[in-house]
Amino acid sequence: VQQITEQMQQVQARMTGIKHKLVVMSGKGGVGKSMTTVNLALALARQHSRVGLLDVDLNGPCVPRMLGLHGRSLTMTPEGALPPVGPLNIKVASMDFFLGAASPVRWKGPMDVSPVWLGLMEMNVIREFLADVVWGELDYLLADLPPGAAADKPPVIAGFIPDLAGAIVVTTPSEVASDVVQKSVTYARDMGIKVLGIVENMSEYRCPSCGEQNELFEGNTEAMCEVLDLPLLGRIPFDRKLARTFDKGEPLLDETYPTIQRYQEIAGRI
Ligand code: ADP
Ligand code: MG
Repeated sequence: VQQITEQMQQVQARMTGIKHKLVVMSGKGGVGKSMTTVNLALALARQHSRVGLLDVDLNGPCVPRMLGLHGRSLTMTPEGALPPVGPLNIKVASMDFFLGAASPVRWKGPMDVSPVWLGLMEMNVIREFLADVVWGELDYLLADLPPGAAADKPPVIAGFIPDLAGAIVVTTPSEVASDVVQKSVTYARDMGIKVLGIVENMSEYRCPSCGEQNELFEGNTEAMCEVLDLPLLGRIPFDRKLARTFDKGEPLLDETYPTIQRYQEIAGRI
């Protein structure tokens, strides 16, 4: 217990130079949390903010790859671990840098460990990681949380970040997504996390087989925002071209590109 307290004090000390700390979450996986986090970080950096990006998805940390930083690592110094710097001077700390072959959470062969225990170990690894990273002075820190909703990891991880300004929640237009997302908003609020608003990702697409557009779903996210009393911060269209540039680790940064302008608008609202 004492070690945990000391680590949390250390995390707090490491983050004192950061003005606004935000998490991006969603109950559901694959809705575009990472895509949203990375693009909002880039958008804030374009608005002359000093930005840090924290990727705490233990099972699929993908932020370094998206920003062309895969294979890089933290620079160990006597003062702590310095994060590598990505496009637009964003400092990136990812569990990807931490999970080497000797990682305590990467198991080979059959394992005789209960999921609860494994979860506790993961939380320990994340806390240790946060206690090491040196951020310096930043205007914003954005954290990309793993998927999961009620009684799960994301709210616990959010609890590791001192003086959290709030959470941005990502959803997609489908009803399946909004159900899970609603649950995660409720749970986050129960944990005392302020939810700032909703981003609807993968809006506006056309089905290749029936040709129908997802305007069919229109109103879903608005209805959810109304029920939860949250602002809709913006919508990001399904944009294969933009997403591919991140999949390849060569992110498109052109601020005149329409979807990037959408991210700029959302960044202006947070
Ligand atoms: P999550 O972090 O929620 O699991 P990701 O951000 O990794 O989701 O996105 C899942 C996949 O969907 C990725 O391959 C990503 O490139 C793609 N994707 C995300 N947002 C969009 C979008 N607006 N348009 C097209 N593809 C997208
Ligand atoms: Mg992700």
